[in-house]
Amino acid sequence: MKRRPLIAGNWKMHKTIAETLAYIEAFKPLVAGVEDRDIMLAPPFTALDAAQRALEGSRISLGAQNCHWEEEGAFTGEISARMLADIGVTYVILGHSERRHIFGETDEMIRQKVAAVLRHELVPILCIGETLEEREAGKTFSVLERQLKEGLKGLSAGDLKDLVIAYEPVWAIGTGKTASPEQAEEAHAFCRRLLAEMFGADFAEKIRILYGGSVKPENIVGLMARPDIDGALVGGASLKPDVFARIVCFGRME
Ligand code: PEP
Repeated sequence: MKRRPLIAGNWKMHKTIAETLAYIEAFKPLVAGVEDRDIMLAPPFTALDAAQRALEGSRISLGAQNCHWEEEGAFTGEISARMLADIGVTYVILGHSERRHIFGETDEMIRQKVAAVLRHELVPILCIGETLEEREAGKTFSVLERQLKEGLKGLSAGDLKDLVIAYEPVWAIGTGKTASPEQAEEAHAFCRRLLAEMFGADFAEKIRILYGGSVKPENIVGLMARPDIDGALVGGASLKPDVFARIVCFGRME
């Protein structure tokens, strides 16, 4: 079955409102004719509202990079899924390795965030991936299994029908080291088999699994040629509109 590709840009802690607007103005015409794949931009929280207005009428969706699991309350510095829905966000990136490793997010916290995002009919992009140490110790599959099982515990196939998974080996994020298409495909196929065991084969066939980790215009075609790779979550290379547009337009312009 062919799943609709999703190419998603994670800007991390980059760009002011003015920089966001200049990016979107340059980016929109570069991807205007692209209709056979989904495109998402995830600016920082401070630029979400301006980005939402600038993207109106385009086919580019808005994403957020994180959220809190509670609706509201005494959680200084946090933003809830309810607030993201209010601003017009479609996707929320959850469990990014920087959140797990720098900010100490656990699988349990991430599970609660997935549930909160679903309560507001937003689409979770659940990030999973092993560190270099885990890969070298032969633990890649057990780490992926734990992150998927714990992150989706208690949720049903119906709840999760729009779920997006992002396989992002930690050793490939921002390092310039990309997993080879074979390494990525092996991990993606493993995740899809596991999703089939957890929620059924039909469910697993429909779920998009993105690859993330130093994706560039030069390696996107090889990755997307693999049967279980349904798109990309792009960090550094999403910060320049012309470079990200070349990734979005893979197979069309090269
Ligand atoms: C990411 O932050 O999700 C990511 C994959 O970053 P980069 O593309 O810079 O490796």
